[in-house]
Amino acid sequence: MTTSQSQRRPQVVIIGSGFGGLLAARGLKGAPVDVTLIARTTHHLFQPLLYQVATGILSSGEVAPATREILKRQRNVTVLLGDVQTIDVDAHTVTSVAPEVTTVTHYDDLILAAGSGQSYFGHDEFAEFAPGLKSIDDALEQRGRIFGAFELAELEQDPAAVQRLMTFVVVGAGPTGVEMAGQIRELSHRTLKGDFRRIDPRAAKIILLDAADRVLPGFSERLSRKTKEKLERLGIDVQLHATVVGVDANGIDVKDADGTRRRIEAVTKIWAAGVQASPLGKQVAEQTGAEVDRAGRVKTLPDLTLPGHPEIFVVGDMAGDGLPGVAQVAMQGGTYAAHRIVDRIEGRPADKPFHYFDKGSMATISRFSAIAQIGNRIQLTGFIAWLAWLFIHLIYLVGFKNRLTTLLHWIISFVGRGRAERAVTIQQVYARTAMRRLGEVEGRSGPEVGHELASDAGYRRPA
Ligand SMILES: Cc1cc2nc3c(=O)[nH]c(=O)nc-3n(C[C@H](O)[C@H](O)[C@H](O)COP(=O)(O)OP(=O)(O)OC[C@H]3O[C@@H](n4cnc5c(N)ncnc54)[C@H](O)[C@@H]3O)c2cc1C
Repeated sequence: MTTSQSQRRPQVVIIGSGFGGLLAARGLKGAPVDVTLIARTTHHLFQPLLYQVATGILSSGEVAPATREILKRQRNVTVLLGDVQTIDVDAHTVTSVAPEVTTVTHYDDLILAAGSGQSYFGHDEFAEFAPGLKSIDDALEQRGRIFGAFELAELEQDPAAVQRLMTFVVVGAGPTGVEMAGQIRELSHRTLKGDFRRIDPRAAKIILLDAADRVLPGFSERLSRKTKEKLERLGIDVQLHATVVGVDANGIDVKDADGTRRRIEAVTKIWAAGVQASPLGKQVAEQTGAEVDRAGRVKTLPDLTLPGHPEIFVVGDMAGDGLPGVAQVAMQGGTYAAHRIVDRIEGRPADKPFHYFDKGSMATISRFSAIAQIGNRIQLTGFIAWLAWLFIHLIYLVGFKNRLTTLLHWIISFVGRGRAERAVTIQQVYARTAMRRLGEVEGRSGPEVGHELASDAGYRRPA
């Protein structure tokens, strides 16, 4: 066990290298504090473009630059790899684990920005056959499953099996679901056209289903309606009031509003419905008496701290402050927490409540087509909205190099028909299932198995 502890300057620990964590670290640039940013991945992930990694448009590096590289010029930040397992609110310590190494880090101020994971609404067993889209692992697995389904369909003799392989079901008609459905359609109609000899990829059936009564419920009714119409014009089968009640290797069972159950035969299922905040939220809530909602989000005070604990901030997807789980909330929350810490250290009043400035939301439907909404008054659709989407996403991507190559890949995919990132491997598709099954056999969790595999693969701490 190693202990990193220094009392010379106030120690700020940030958990998470997503939007909230990164902006918190940047907000402490030049501040008289030492910052330790702990995250279980070595990258900062730009989640809004994950669907483009899953569908072969972008590489993983373009949406996930190394956190260490982003922050290398900020001398007061140390970046540590580690899965935070315990936060001890009384002892002011965070315990994190990486293969073979446990680290205990002391904090004076803690910024919790560990985000959220996929929620299967109590049916975690669905994950094996309907992976979500929250991480690079997820996106690469989905890419392998989507491209792999066409490859296997080309080999099949049985028409029913071909149909099953060429049916893609996206569960959840929020922005991610709409974007995934739109991109699978583009892939099958443009990119893969002419690549196969026995199947016609354009015959792929794409179903977008949701238990709600409309697509994109976070947007105005007008934009929801227009999006549904556009999806249907593209040939995507939008099924609403449809609740998933079962998922297996070959299909999905659905219950409609009138109670009838039906089955959709489909090998590829993509889960884009529901999120559950990091369990670290519940852990600190139990120690501080803060409330946690059904999605695991911690109810904070107006200044994003916890009751009786002005040294603990909770930002982004983990915070249950009634704000949407979007990147801007996390970014602004991270910056706010950093500024409050500096205000306090420098003797300025630090009681200004957090105020979220809504810059609007957008989603793409297909190439050259998107929707955007800023407040209730400004609503854009079609090409103009798509241009706005393109511009904003390019600006927010981290790093000039990434912006340049992303732009190049967009030209290849949207102006041309190609996709630069079509490489897939068997390991990408099956590694998660293999790790989980191994864990089940041995009664251990996926991360525990992962750590042991890292050890078996060569990394061993000297005795
Ligand atoms: C597919 C997808 C598409 C999206 N599209 C949009 C969009 O178009 N527009 C928009 O505004 N928002 C979008 N969002 C939502 C947006 O990405 C999130 O709201 C935002 O990322 C939340 O930021 P965060 O910092 O709270 O958490 P995250 O960005 O999720 O970061 C969490 C960090 O914590 C780390 N972490 C988690 N647990 C631990 C642990 N135990 N120990 C150590 N580290 C840990 C993770 O590795 C990660 O670095 C999308 C989300 C997804 C998944």
